[in-house]
Amino acid sequence: MNKASTSDLMEKVVSLCKRRGFIFQSSEIYGGLGSAWDYGPLGVELKRNVKNAWWKSVIHGRDDVMGLDTSILMHPEVWRASGHTENFTDILVDCKKCKKRFRADKIGNQCPNCGGKEFTEGRAFNLMLKTFLGALEDESAVCYLRPETAQGIFVNFMNVLDTSRKRLPFGIAQIGKSFRNEITPGNFTFRTREFEQMEIEYFCRPQDADAAHEKWIADRFQWYVDLGMTKSNLRLRAHDITELAHYAKGCTDIEYNFPFGWSELEGIANRTDFDLKQHSQFSGKDLRYQDNLTNEKFFPYIIEPSGGVDRATLAFLVDAYHEEQIEGETRVVLRFSKELAPTKIAVFPLLKKNAELVTLAKKIKNELSKEYVTVYDDTAAIGKLYRRQDEVGTFFCITVDVQSLEDKQVTVRDRDTMKQERVPVAGLKNYLADQFLKNNS
Ligand code: ATP
Repeated sequence: MNKASTSDLMEKVVSLCKRRGFIFQSSEIYGGLGSAWDYGPLGVELKRNVKNAWWKSVIHGRDDVMGLDTSILMHPEVWRASGHTENFTDILVDCKKCKKRFRADKIGNQCPNCGGKEFTEGRAFNLMLKTFLGALEDESAVCYLRPETAQGIFVNFMNVLDTSRKRLPFGIAQIGKSFRNEITPGNFTFRTREFEQMEIEYFCRPQDADAAHEKWIADRFQWYVDLGMTKSNLRLRAHDITELAHYAKGCTDIEYNFPFGWSELEGIANRTDFDLKQHSQFSGKDLRYQDNLTNEKFFPYIIEPSGGVDRATLAFLVDAYHEEQIEGETRVVLRFSKELAPTKIAVFPLLKKNAELVTLAKKIKNELSKEYVTVYDDTAAIGKLYRRQDEVGTFFCITVDVQSLEDKQVTVRDRDTMKQERVPVAGLKNYLADQFLKNNS
């Protein structure tokens, strides 16, 4: 089994995504909108599976984290309190030779486009996307599309605490869209101006924060591994002091070895008590937590595992991509884990002109659809149907042939081993349940 060579792996993944309906360029018929992407029928399944796996792991799988879904538009004071209005900036420079614009922190002292060495003075550029609410387009109507989902959690801290009666430590988590006017978006869906985040804010006592931080770093790393990502393609990188936000005590990134280099999938930060303190000060509401034993009031520390849905999805796609040489032909297979595969099962009749085979295949498909994402296909010869499903990561292909009408058995083919087994139709559900349990990577 071969991984495609790194140099063209990214191109191959991008082309497969378009060809098979994972990801399309936004507004393509109008020439496309730069760095905006649409998820097609298979992409949306994959992305939903990533989000569901996260939700299951951090909320349903634990007793101490609750879900939330807050609005994208928030009171402008939120962004003053959080520091985004003043500090959420990148320093921009223009190359004097080719006039291209870059983030000063990403180029060193040489233009990545033309090699030029002279740049304009750096200018601060706020990354928040601005809009106006209501009919007037004046300063009083200014509003921002949130650049992170975290603030929606902080401003609801008291609402969740009062209604849930949880005691420290506990977390609040949400998945949602965020927007940043990135200066240099790119690398497919890795850096875009509209993206989805999965964020957890874990509130704890200051003295417990370091241990909680370590635990979250380990848990979040393991999440990617459990969903089938190659461990050696993942690493942890602790921020050095110059990279840390002024309020943060520590931050460790989980990075993936993309074809374009090691890059951040998720950051796990110890944000100290900065956020609740700031919102208390700016809103005038007391957001301190009251200990019910000592009656002491204090601002909890916050550990924040903050990941990108699109980045995780891209990393899972790149990691799953494999090419194999089989009898002189290249087989492309996406080796998704059971939880992430957009389609679990495909059912084919060996002969589409045989009405009885078609009926039985469709019946099996409908029955399996109650439990698994299952598709029916009869639009090509069997070899081609297999290749189509391998290329999108479908776990099992089930073929109904003439013999099936007599012996009431079908052929089940495994995506990874390509082994075929005859299985009684009546026992299919149990067989598949066993197989999925075995493949529970
Ligand atoms: P970077 O240094 O790559 O710009 P960041 O450190 O600013 O990222 P955070 O503010 O920590 O990112 O955001 C948390 C997560 O949200 C990131 O780890 C990433 O997965 C995701 N994310 C942030 N910006 C983008 C973007 N422009 N496009 C896609 N995902 C993003």
